[in-house]
Amino acid sequence: MRTQVAIVGAGPSGLLLSQILAKHGVESVIVENRSQDYVLARIRAGVIEHGAVDVLTDYGVGERLHREGMRHDGVYLQWPGERRRIDFVESCGHSVWVYGQTEITKDLIATREADGQQIFWSVSDTAIVGADTDSPRVTFVDADGNAQSIEADYVAGCDGFHGVSRPTIPESVRSVRERIYPYAWLGILAEVAPSTDELIYALHPDGFAMHSMRSESVSRLYLQVEPDDDIANWSDDRIWDGLSTRMALDGWSLQSGPTLEKSITPMRSFVSAPLRWGRLFLAGDASHIVPPTGAKGLNLAIADVKRLGSALAAKYADGSDELLDRYSDDALERVWQSTHFSWWMTSMLHMPPPADPDRDFLLQMQLTQLKHVTTSKAAATMLAENYTGSVLPYP
Ligand SMILES: Cc1cc2nc3c(=O)[nH]c(=O)nc-3n(C[C@H](O)[C@H](O)[C@H](O)COP(=O)(O)OP(=O)(O)OC[C@H]3O[C@@H](n4cnc5c(N)ncnc54)[C@H](O)[C@@H]3O)c2cc1C
Repeated sequence: MRTQVAIVGAGPSGLLLSQILAKHGVESVIVENRSQDYVLARIRAGVIEHGAVDVLTDYGVGERLHREGMRHDGVYLQWPGERRRIDFVESCGHSVWVYGQTEITKDLIATREADGQQIFWSVSDTAIVGADTDSPRVTFVDADGNAQSIEADYVAGCDGFHGVSRPTIPESVRSVRERIYPYAWLGILAEVAPSTDELIYALHPDGFAMHSMRSESVSRLYLQVEPDDDIANWSDDRIWDGLSTRMALDGWSLQSGPTLEKSITPMRSFVSAPLRWGRLFLAGDASHIVPPTGAKGLNLAIADVKRLGSALAAKYADGSDELLDRYSDDALERVWQSTHFSWWMTSMLHMPPPADPDRDFLLQMQLTQLKHVTTSKAAATMLAENYTGSVLPYP
């Protein structure tokens, strides 16, 4: 097989990249090691920056988002006895959209399939060969057990944190910066109308809690837990009790409902640079991970592939290498901005582990920070600009 761009991974990065390339008349083939059903059912992010909404809209996959998504003009920050709102529109003139990553994935797969996009689902043994030569290849075993090879001009590594693309780049070329946090998020998806009109981020001595939503009848909620905790330790009753305690406020109550999904996710900040090696380009979680507190993972993936798609389109349109050569440096600027914001939000809102001797001191610092960010116009604007993604323009 031969194509212009071989894409490894059919998550949001890989699917959106193929959509962008197709709109510019560039051919691609996608290989994905999970089944289509598995990819369609995966529950993950849900807060979309306004710039990411524009990208999805511009490339023809924003119609349902605009119809069914929820525009949020602010966010609540809470600590015991106090819940305050930051108004994004007043602070920086922008909003975010709440629309599940699962829905974006559905929209992308439907559009790509309608377009005749070649996607190999359920492959195994994916490998990228000759990325530092002029004739890179992606090899794999297809769902029927046949060995396959795709020759391409370029390879896009969109295969997430555990994929094969990043390790294809020799360690001598890569630098990794990483922080592993001493806590994790227990997340549930629940069949119950949200008890709030906008997201609530709450700091409590028992740990962080968050109320998000996916639709008018489905809520997404999170609790800070120990990094090695087991989901089997958390009955539904224990989860709802923890959420109610940590988000308690006079005159407000949390509605509970049947739990559709629950899981524990470790939290880390991770950046591997550069994002290019020869003809291999990394995008999304393949090269960087942020803790979910800042709602940045999916948005960074969308920004990366917009940048990469435009650079590849320019190369095919006029032969120019300029944008491809700048891809890694330019993308890393947004990556570090989002990494900083996600780290800052995480540090402000999560209780240090019980064994931390500075726990009481740090809690006072967190409360002071929360009060400052919800009273100072300048501090609120800093949060709003970062949260809505307007601190840096989209590529
Ligand atoms: C449990 C969880 C919760 C999250 N919650 C949030 C949130 O609330 N907010 C937020 O902003 N972000 C969140 N994120 C992060 C966000 O979902 C990711 O940033 C986003 O999915 C990145 O998209 P991606 O396409 O780069 O990677 P992925 O979505 O990981 O997609 C990579 C794809 O590559 C495939 N693949 C892997 N290895 C191979 C291989 N060898 N061969 C072929 N295919 C391969 C995978 O199966 C997958 O389909 C969460 C992530 C997780 C894991």
